[in-house]
Amino acid sequence: MIEVENLTKKFGDKIAVDGISFHVHDGEIYGLLGPNGSGKSTTMKILAGILKPTTGKVLVEGINVAKNPIEVKKIVGYVPETPILYESLTPSELFNFVGSIRGIPKDKLEERVNYFVKAFGIEEYLEQFIGTLSFGTQQKVSLITALLHDPKVLILDEAMNGLDPKSARILRELLLEFKNEGKSIVFSTHILSLAEVICDRIGVIYQGKIIAEGTIEELKEKAHEESLEDVFLKLT
Ligand code: ADP
Ligand code: MG
Repeated sequence: MIEVENLTKKFGDKIAVDGISFHVHDGEIYGLLGPNGSGKSTTMKILAGILKPTTGKVLVEGINVAKNPIEVKKIVGYVPETPILYESLTPSELFNFVGSIRGIPKDKLEERVNYFVKAFGIEEYLEQFIGTLSFGTQQKVSLITALLHDPKVLILDEAMNGLDPKSARILRELLLEFKNEGKSIVFSTHILSLAEVICDRIGVIYQGKIIAEGTIEELKEKAHEESLEDVFLKLT
């Protein structure tokens, strides 16, 4: 379970995240839905422990993320908006490297790599330099590296970006599997229809604030409220 309490992030005078609070239960996919520049990626980085909040806190399974980033990284899988990968490694080398720094037993690592490589159909790219792969293939490699240690919590920042329809369907099936295993997922997107099919509950984020929260049905009922309507217009 994830608890986000009154999170604020300032970059100089710029307020990127402005007092955000939300909870994600076990077995729930929570969507952070908002237009570009609304503060999604900044929030996701704070959730993943790679950026410290200016004020407020995030608890993952009761652990304060900013105070225990190493502990939290053991149970969190984070997929950044743009893949951050070692371009001069091959996917095989990267998976082994991630396995060794995360202390994943060899047989377990091999089993998980094989499973996800097959699921995403990237067998033919395993021995090519990551820097030479397409954005979509790099995105799949990034997803796999985030899943190898069997995280309890997934932080996915626009994770469908660059995926072909088949891979997007596979990712969606994987997310449903994780959810059924009781894992918590935060899924950011600027695409309303994606949030609609994937998320159990959605927080609509705009100018660093969550301006509405609920199931897609609840949000659609509220959508006549002026501010929410503006945001939905930007999203569709
Ligand atoms: P989103 O992911 O919803 O598009 P971001 O969290 O990336 O939004 O950005 C929110 C706001 O914070 C934007 O105005 C962006 O320009 C600003 N911002 C994000 N990162 C930085 C940074 N490192 N330094 C200064 N401003 C930033
Ligand atoms: Mg973003």
